[in-house]
Amino acid sequence: MTDSPAAPRPHLIAGNWKMHGTATALAEIEAMAAAAASLPPHVTVAVCPPATLIHRAAQVARGRLVIGAQDVHAEPCGAFTGCVSAEMLQDAGATLVIVGHSERRTDCHETDADVRAKAIAVQAAGMTAIVCIGETAAERDAGTALTVLNSQLDGSLPGSAERLVVAYEPVWAVGSGLTPTPEQITGLHAAIRTNLTARYGDAGERVAILYGGSVKPDNAAALLGADNVSGALVGGASLTAADFLAIARAA
Ligand code: PEP
Repeated sequence: MTDSPAAPRPHLIAGNWKMHGTATALAEIEAMAAAAASLPPHVTVAVCPPATLIHRAAQVARGRLVIGAQDVHAEPCGAFTGCVSAEMLQDAGATLVIVGHSERRTDCHETDADVRAKAIAVQAAGMTAIVCIGETAAERDAGTALTVLNSQLDGSLPGSAERLVVAYEPVWAVGSGLTPTPEQITGLHAAIRTNLTARYGDAGERVAILYGGSVKPDNAAALLGADNVSGALVGGASLTAADFLAIARAA
């Protein structure tokens, strides 16, 4: 008798639309939802459109396509002009929220403490927090990537591993067309896992670790097939159903 092959590990393929998309883009979400039904059962896809589209996107999403948000305010309500709370995102139909994306850390000066507070708010609202971390090119070149990642994890992670995902996104790979090698990703994800299990014990084993940064249909199989990779956070290639689904099929 031979052992049955191990089931493929669960993969989350999450798309970050950034500041792209109006009502016409809902056709892409509809196409993604239709195609998601035929993805292998270990793959879940998520789209994080601009906040203005979350409610409408959630109405056309179904099955293994879920809708998320790109940011959140840590406070539940108050005098925060232009901001949106976790409860509001959940009410609009989001089930997960990206926090600490490098563009927000850089452009909006978000600190690790800010990111942690947002992640806690997301979890408290019953959604999943995708906490982004990643080193800059200068930090990589200085050989301090691991120190930076551990410092970001120490400062940004919430107290609970429930409804938590970590996205390793080297800043130099986001939107650049550059990626680390699969071997480099495997090594850094192993180090992230060590941090997670030291922090959360066994629960740290269950936290998905995504890779993000210039994932495209033509490199997805290699990047997603790397050991210790549980999915991808995808920017530019998540804007069209054809590219995004091609990545999801590679998982
Ligand atoms: C991102 O914005 O999180 C991202 C990974 O972008 P891209 O895939 O375009 O590099």
